Amino acid sequence: LFAQAWDFMWGTKFFHQLPPIEGVEIAFAGRSNVGKSSLLNAITGRKALARTSQTPGRTKELNFFRPEKDPTLVICDMPGYGYAKASKKEVAAWNQLILDYLKGRPNLRRVYVLVDSRHGLKQSDLDVMTTLDKAAVNYQVILTKVDKTKLSELTKTLVKVKLGIKKRPAAHPEVLLTSAEKKIGITLLRAQMLHLSEG
Ligand code: GDP
Repeated sequence: LFAQAWDFMWGTKFFHQLPPIEGVEIAFAGRSNVGKSSLLNAITGRKALARTSQTPGRTKELNFFRPEKDPTLVICDMPGYGYAKASKKEVAAWNQLILDYLKGRPNLRRVYVLVDSRHGLKQSDLDVMTTLDKAAVNYQVILTKVDKTKLSELTKTLVKVKLGIKKRPAAHPEVLLTSAEKKIGITLLRAQMLHLSEG
């Protein structure tokens, strides 16, 4: 799957406009600027696949990608959350869209929750994880930009994150470490995604 070209498939703000359910879906969520676009580009081997989602007007949408010739795996790029300037109304709209999406996707196998390895878990990440726990959607934390973080810091963050997810019912106990910049953890993440798409 990852040897193929990936295409932008669909983008929408509205629950009733989601693409048809086809194959396995894996979603990526995270605070804005966490490195989600860069990671999606690294995974799919496209330089600017996820940039489509950054054109104005697209930022608050759910964006869907899939390999050109294969509908067995679909990636959903969730809108970034947690930016300081977001109004209460925007946060509420984000939550509603995500809740609707989570309820309406029986083929959603996992949500990867991206967390900046320099910052660790923020309140907005905890809120999202609570939403996922309530919806009983399997999720896993990925620490991003590990090339920017000193090993001692990274170890501390990792311990804290593991503690933070320990009692969460829908959280995967393992935490992945990635760098889109240095291509760390990409092969492992791809292998996991393939495994999920087959299972
Ligand atoms: P998004 O808002 O979550 O989609 O984040 P982007 O992918 O646009 O990345 C935000 C910023 O972090 C950009 O300036 C990227 O160049 C930078 N960035 C993303 N991934 C990495 C990484 O793995 N290592 C480093 N050093 N910088 C990164």
